[in-house]
Amino acid sequence: MPQNPTTVPGYRNPSKQVVIAATGAPSTTRDRQTIYHLRCTLCRHDYGCNGMDIKARLCPNCQSGTPGEPLREPAPRLDFGNDSDVY
Ligand SMILES: [Zn+2]
Repeated sequence: MPQNPTTVPGYRNPSKQVVIAATGAPSTTRDRQTIYHLRCTLCRHDYGCNGMDIKARLCPNCQSGTPGEPLREPAPRLDFGNDSDVY
């Protein structure tokens, strides 16, 4: 699988949406994509987004983006220390 920098935790897109983690859950809107946990740095809204749409994602809460995809679990805390499956 090709590594896409927009799916790496810590990546921030031009709309200030940050990748928190890969959830591994299948996307509900795109075939063969998985859901990533994103967070808006403007309003701290947490939501899911498939890998292909991260780069152009707008916050569903404060930027009128499309509704987020479901997150399997409610983001316990912001923790970039666990890098077991980043690479
Ligand atoms: Zn927001």
